[in-house]
This record gives sequence, C-alpha cells and structure tokens, in this order.
Amino acid sequence: MVSFRSVRRTSGRGMALLDSAFQRHEATRVVTITRRLEFDAGHRIPHHANQCRHLHGHRYALEITVVGALVEVDGAPDQAMVADFSEVKAIASRTVVEAWDHAFLAWKHDRPVIDFLATLPGHRTVEFEQPPTAEHLAATAFDLLQAALAERYGSRVALSRVRLYETPNAWADAGPGSR
Ligand SMILES: [Zn+2]
Repeated sequence: MVSFRSVRRTSGRGMALLDSAFQRHEATRVVTITRRLEFDAGHRIPHHANQCRHLHGHRYALEITVVGALVEVDGAPDQAMVADFSEVKAIASRTVVEAWDHAFLAWKHDRPVIDFLATLPGHRTVEFEQPPTAEHLAATAFDLLQAALAERYGSRVALSRVRLYETPNAWADAGPGSR
C-alpha cells in the first residue's frame, strides 16, 4: 500500500503510483441506494397490552437499502449505478409486496383469527413465525430480500438495511445478522 505522503516525495514512477492508487480508490468506492415501496395490510398483536390487540390496518412503507460498487462497464444499462432502482423495485414487489399487500399478516399461533379468515373464500392471509410487529416484519422482509438480491446480483450488491414504517412516526430497521 502506498501512502499519499510517501508518493508525494517521489516523482515520475511515484506519480504513476499515486494515479493508480486513486484509480484503485475509485474502483472500490461503494455507494448505497434506497428504494421505497408502500402497501396496505391488516394485522394485530394478540397479546399486546393496548390498542394493537384489535384487528386493524396500516399503510406500511418499506425502504430497501442496498450497497455495492458502481458498475464501470462503458455503455452498460446500469453504468455508474449500484443497481437499477426499477429492478430493485421489481425484486421487492415479487418477493414481499405482492404477497403482503391487502393481506392480513398473522402470527401462526393466532388461531382464532387464522381460523376465522380461513372461512372467507380466497382471503389473503400471510402467516408469520412471530407476532407481526414492525420489527418482525422488517426482519422477515430482510431475509426474503437478501436471498432474492443474492440470486440476481451475486456478491456485487448486498442488502444493507430494510426499514419498515408502520406509521410515519414508528418504524423498525433490520440489518445483516438481525435474526
Ligand atoms: Zn398495528
């Protein structure tokens, strides 16, 4: 590794090393991008002490932040991007939003609700391992999206954070290793 100071003391070959050091820096710069999607869903937290034990719904917002090196292929459709926003949106839609939108998000052990919803023909109910808090939904979305993004981008792009807003004033963040 050549430090800036040691290179500055040389000339000729030293300046070439400096240039290449800057190019290396440029090549390894990472940037994050975030795509936001919104959806509507019902839920309840069955053992919650207050209001949330009742059946109710939210306008949820999902913010997906991915990190990666910029694509440096001249003329590529995604040149100078981490990933195309529309592609991140499409992955999030088919992985999470299409299943959760206008659905009831239920804890798998909330039997009174799940059994009732099962009596409604074709009702969209999604069962979760834990009560559908903002935290658990964010962590679940993170796991689903991490797998889908890895399938599309390999190791070039990584999921950095999933932020799930339950209301404009209350949200949960899930990151790598959050479960
Ligand atoms: Zn709620």
